[in-house]
Amino acid sequence: MLKAKIDGIQEACLLEINNASDLQQINAIKIKYLGRNGEITAVLKSIKEASVAERPQIGKWVNDAQKLVEGIIADKENSIQEILKQKRTEEETLDVTLSLPQGRSIGALNPLTLIKNDITDIFIRMGFEVKDGPEIEFEYYNFTALNIPKDHPSRNNSDTFYISDNLLLRTQTSAVQVHVMKSQRPPIRIICPGKVYRPDDDATHSPMFQQIEGLVVDTTVTLRDLKSILEEFARLFFSETTKVRFRPSYFPFTEPSVEVDLSCNKCGGAGCNLCKSTGWIELLGAGVVHPNVLEECGIDSSKYKGIAFGIGVERAAMIKYGIHDMRLLFDNDIRILKQFK
Ligand SMILES: [Zn+2]
Repeated sequence: MLKAKIDGIQEACLLEINNASDLQQINAIKIKYLGRNGEITAVLKSIKEASVAERPQIGKWVNDAQKLVEGIIADKENSIQEILKQKRTEEETLDVTLSLPQGRSIGALNPLTLIKNDITDIFIRMGFEVKDGPEIEFEYYNFTALNIPKDHPSRNNSDTFYISDNLLLRTQTSAVQVHVMKSQRPPIRIICPGKVYRPDDDATHSPMFQQIEGLVVDTTVTLRDLKSILEEFARLFFSETTKVRFRPSYFPFTEPSVEVDLSCNKCGGAGCNLCKSTGWIELLGAGVVHPNVLEECGIDSSKYKGIAFGIGVERAAMIKYGIHDMRLLFDNDIRILKQFK
């Protein structure tokens, strides 16, 4: 009699599990049959009404029914979880053939980033290693170690953003040279791309601009090597026919120092408005590293020589694309920026 009742409950329960299609239904079945007031639990509770002799047998029937139901519920739960997971995966699949909604365009890198990457790539191909340094710099690294005298005008408040007496926003990426030479023994062949800051703001100057500093330190390096490196750069970055010219100049950290000019690509040297009728465009400053700088960084200047150059990224972009106002590159005018994709 009781066995038939247990079998009946078990059968009804299995049927309900079989028909269940989600986890809420399974949960309700668990409560209905196995819960504190559940049907199987109720039979177990009624065991005390049976005779002592019958109890072990009834106990076994109930336990068996309970185990069977629990096992089937667990299986069902697993298969529902599996179906849900599969459904989620299907819903998350991207349709790559979908076209973009009309009027939306894909973003692109800013032309200055493209130019910086191009220049960096050229020097990496020439065997240069890329180094980074802090934008907030000690006066020592930005000026003193680079042989810039205490009374040099570039140290004035009007030419440098000071944060405190000896902390400033670096005015040149040359400061990275000092960090590298103090921590690395020659041969050194590095470029340091990065932002620099000076209180200037007009069509050809911005308070923030980017430089790429280059430095080679070795036993036999000369001004001739500097020229061939820059000629190769000009050929790869501007055009096959671009020529490079050195003009004597002065920087405290190089001796001799040179201004480096490019032959004007627009007029081919005949003279035009871009090159101000000279046939040449000023690109950058460079030179042979001053022995004082090498010595300050712990490098024996009787044994080693250095060459260095600093390329202005904005200047290179302006020359390459014939842009007259640097501020166009910083403004967010999408019509201009789009042209450089
Ligand atoms: Zn020209």
